[in-house]
Amino acid sequence: MQTHGRWEQRWHPLRSEWVVIAAHRQDRPWHGATVTSQVSPPDYLENCFFCPGNLRVSGARNENYQGIYAFDNDHPCVGVTAPHELAPPSGIYRNRPADGVARVVCYSPKHNLTLAELDVSEIEALLKVWQAQYSELGARPEVRHVLVFENKGEVVGVSNPHPHCQIYATNFVFKTIENEATLSRQHFDDTGRILFQDILKAEHDDGRRIIFENSSAIAFIPYFARYAYESYVAPKATHSGLAGLDSNELHDLAEALKVMAVRYDNLWSMPFPYVMALHHAPTDGGDYNGFHFHIEFHPPLRKPNLLKYLAGPEIGGGNFLSDTLPEDKAQELRDLSDIHYKIARSAL
Ligand SMILES: [Zn+2]
Ligand SMILES: [Zn+2]
Repeated sequence: MQTHGRWEQRWHPLRSEWVVIAAHRQDRPWHGATVTSQVSPPDYLENCFFCPGNLRVSGARNENYQGIYAFDNDHPCVGVTAPHELAPPSGIYRNRPADGVARVVCYSPKHNLTLAELDVSEIEALLKVWQAQYSELGARPEVRHVLVFENKGEVVGVSNPHPHCQIYATNFVFKTIENEATLSRQHFDDTGRILFQDILKAEHDDGRRIIFENSSAIAFIPYFARYAYESYVAPKATHSGLAGLDSNELHDLAEALKVMAVRYDNLWSMPFPYVMALHHAPTDGGDYNGFHFHIEFHPPLRKPNLLKYLAGPEIGGGNFLSDTLPEDKAQELRDLSDIHYKIARSAL
């Protein structure tokens, strides 16, 4: 068996850790669809907490919104109402109030759409809402970082398919971002170069993992991907946050996001589950010039109905073991159409 390149360790420069690629032991390629046909939900549901005009658990009523709708999360993990009178723990242990703001952003009043089914102008409008939220929440004195993320699909624990993302504006910097910021700073001090620009250069030099690019944005599976279909969507120019992008860059980024989301859905002709996260620099007043804003997709499925299980190496040891080769997975995504499968079907 040809194992060259299929069995090796790859350095993850944004995490400073090894990823073990063990694609040589992958069983036969998967053939044919096994996904059962999905019943499409209606575009409005009376008991959905996110549909326009509906009552939420908190007793608040959603506006009869037409476009994008942001509101405070009814079950916040961080919030202005978090208890401030805390019992001190023993010894070296520490605690503090869970200060911050948690919000929900609905992408559309339509219950049955996904990011992939929004058109580029609607995704652009969403990017502008994220820009505004990032600027507003990041300016709050207690907020050190704004994490915008979307969990999509039941396999990542989402029971309500209404298209939405969440925002956690926290009093701490999430660990992944802190690592990226530290490593970007170190790389800049050592080389005088931006770490993410060196990643983009390496991706361009190789070329096999690039899914899509236009004049100012790019989508690719990184060389060091930990999940089979992990991808990065980013502006080509370095900005520490989404707020720094001009209108052309926003449009190009919206187009790259659209292509990526459509190809994901087209892969197995099903709404493709993922965790999507915007990686912004912290808003704690530090110097983050070397930080390059990007969006990461972490899809948990390796095949339809087959999850990437996190087990001994990942949970027990903390490093990822990947059974697939990023170049193979990128090729699969490169070969797909940019027309969403639902539209292709309805045109038949
Ligand atoms: Zn809904
Ligand atoms: Zn990142």
